[in-house]
Amino acid sequence: MMQRLHRIAARPSFALPIFSLAAMAAAGSGCASRRAGEPADLIVFNGKVVTMNPEKPEAQAVAVRGGTIAAVGTDAEVLALAGDATRRLDARGGMVLPGLIDAHGHIASLGEQIANLDLRGVDSVAEIARRVRERAAGLQPGEWVTGGGWDQNLWPGEQFPDHRPLTQASPDRPVWLSRIDGHAMWANRKAMQLAGITRNTPDPVGGSIERDAKGEPTGIFIDNAADLVGKVVPPASRERLKSWITLALQRCAQAGLTEVHDAGVSAEQVAAFKELADAGQLPLRVYLMWSGMGMGSAEALDKALAEPPLINYKDRVTLRSVKLMIDGAMGSRGAVFFADYDDDKGNRGLFVMDPKAIEEYTHVALKRGYQVNTHAIGDRGIRLTLDAYEKALAANPSPDPRPRIEHLQCIAKDDVPRLKSLGVIASMQPSHATSDMYWADERVGAERGQGLYAWRWVIDSGAMIAAGSDFPVDPERPLVGIHSALTRQDLKHWPETGWHPDQKMTLDETLRAYTVNAAYAGYEEKVKGRLAPGYWADLTVLAKDLRAIPPPEIPDTGVAYTIVGGAIAHEAR
Ligand SMILES: [Zn+2]
Repeated sequence: MMQRLHRIAARPSFALPIFSLAAMAAAGSGCASRRAGEPADLIVFNGKVVTMNPEKPEAQAVAVRGGTIAAVGTDAEVLALAGDATRRLDARGGMVLPGLIDAHGHIASLGEQIANLDLRGVDSVAEIARRVRERAAGLQPGEWVTGGGWDQNLWPGEQFPDHRPLTQASPDRPVWLSRIDGHAMWANRKAMQLAGITRNTPDPVGGSIERDAKGEPTGIFIDNAADLVGKVVPPASRERLKSWITLALQRCAQAGLTEVHDAGVSAEQVAAFKELADAGQLPLRVYLMWSGMGMGSAEALDKALAEPPLINYKDRVTLRSVKLMIDGAMGSRGAVFFADYDDDKGNRGLFVMDPKAIEEYTHVALKRGYQVNTHAIGDRGIRLTLDAYEKALAANPSPDPRPRIEHLQCIAKDDVPRLKSLGVIASMQPSHATSDMYWADERVGAERGQGLYAWRWVIDSGAMIAAGSDFPVDPERPLVGIHSALTRQDLKHWPETGWHPDQKMTLDETLRAYTVNAAYAGYEEKVKGRLAPGYWADLTVLAKDLRAIPPPEIPDTGVAYTIVGGAIAHEAR
């Protein structure tokens, strides 16, 4: 997903931030101030502890001292480390996991959506218009109605809307609403007027302006066309941006997440994250990807990456990665395929970035020691990304590049072995499958459809899946994603045997995708993703043992505690 709600990602200003380079080796850094033998700060006991550590896969209790794990073992062994000041948390038989990671989310977008109009799940245009009218009435002069989450697939007819309902609801105030996947935007007439959009405005490269039979813009802007209006939306202030980040990370902590990989940040966002970290106000860890496309050129990217990666700044912020995008999304028929969409003849999708640019940007990132993560969804988009990686990797023999493909939603079977051979991590979002299954087969047909969200193909080929949600596209709750991965069913248990059930993941594979694998995808596997002495004290404590309950109960399993660096970021009340 792209961030289209605001200018923050789409139009970043790349005044280069000066990093104070705390590029310390991350391993064990948090425990320097405390000595072994002192009492534990915090102990979680009476749990079903799944450690992801092959030397000791299961335990009952975990002790924390100075931000890292001091011991993992039986209740008796670990409680022996308690002193008078030790905080003891009774897990009450619930599952204790290495702190869950969302390997692909959009933090500021989620916060903006929570703070403004959250249209996820709204099943009629009339209701959206009602909420727009209500919101418009409460804003200051000059403020735009922004927000997102609308999805025409939930409405009768499943057609894209036009500007008229929004224009009627808000004739004088601009309205600018993101589709659920961030790949289409919906404007009212006022927003189009302010942006100077007319019937004569041409479609930009990698984008399209939807037009009616007479050639007039309807109010829907696909992919790169969104910049035409997005550039006139007033940018958020630093303080507002920080409030959105804070709101979003509170939600994430409640959901049991201890870390989020943010898939595309601007310089302004990086500055906001660092200020929050400086003030001790980041409850979770964040692994940030520069929005490479927002840089505008490979030269601009090269300049921005002249600063070495930022690693574990203030024990919270890492910036060592670049997000690229080759194509759009399937929901708005922008994902790039070799053949036409089955439900839209003549359309094979949109290149958001030129495939040659993907190679050039990858080249620059690898040369500068940064990881590359490319959004690629259609079979052709995925193949061309693999081709670009192959060439750039050959030209830049980097010792540990760990390139990623984000989403990987419809891969051609022939390309699957290339993931392992090129060392490409598949960064996939289990709940995308169960959100898209109502229409995805119609888009691509039966043959290509075998490669839809093909988790089994990826895992059985020996490649690695790092799991995420792409929030706010799908809920930030990993328990929802875990349910999707195991069942390929929605929350009403449809379809009965699961959608393309041969692609289901096991619980062990799914938990690995949210812990060890996601940690590896962020170069943190030596300090995160396992519960073992010396690792960061990041834990997710669930109210139940997921191995002991039927999958339909998983989404509503409570999160008892979310612990980050030994500090409690969320506690069930
Ligand atoms: Zn995304």
